[in-house]
Amino acid sequence: MSLSDAVADVFFPPACAACDEVLPAPGAFCEDCRALVLEVGDVHCPRCGEPGRFPEDGCPRCRALPPPFTRAFAPFEHDGAMARAVHRFKYEDRPDLARPLGRLLAASAQRALSSMPGPFIPLPLHVSRFRERKFDQAALLCVALAEVLRRPVEDAWLSRTRATPRQVGLSDVQREENVAGAFLAAPAVRGQSVVLVDDVLTTGATAREAARALLHAGAERVFVLTLARARRGE
Ligand SMILES: [Zn+2]
Ligand SMILES: [Zn+2]
Repeated sequence: MSLSDAVADVFFPPACAACDEVLPAPGAFCEDCRALVLEVGDVHCPRCGEPGRFPEDGCPRCRALPPPFTRAFAPFEHDGAMARAVHRFKYEDRPDLARPLGRLLAASAQRALSSMPGPFIPLPLHVSRFRERKFDQAALLCVALAEVLRRPVEDAWLSRTRATPRQVGLSDVQREENVAGAFLAAPAVRGQSVVLVDDVLTTGATAREAARALLHAGAERVFVLTLARARRGE
């Protein structure tokens, strides 16, 4: 089954992604939950998108370890109803949430994406984690984004060469070591600008490593787009 079939074939009446309340029209959240979705807004690190007021050269993390990607953008904070929705999407077997969340992301990131050219590349899961989860949330988000924004998805341009232990509880340096050399980019990326897509950006260690692999294979610029952005320390 193709990815778009996986998205299209799963039919549920429109319901809130966080609490399952039935919605009068297709959308991601009911009114109550939407009120609990925090937008990052315009005040964030210009490099990695971390919410907060930082100087032009970035937040302390970006200044200490400049990211290889050009810019990361996420419209929402990983908190409240959005964190709940992402958890359900990822860990509670709800691939059907890719479409409403992807559409919300497309609408919320449209302005940012006007300066982030190139095809969407899902941040790949390792095949062993794909087997345990049965779907790849970043790939499903890409399909939903592509439907709305009519940009190509190049899911063969980046692959994961090894499984990496979960990042939770690791320091910044341990996270970087944990994912070092975990990705391989295809020669097709040479000279291209690309937009890496994932559900949540936490410290960005995984996105940094994926961006390094793409740049190593000759990508011109790598942008990162995620639905949600965790605050530092999460
Ligand atoms: Zn709700
Ligand atoms: Zn930053």
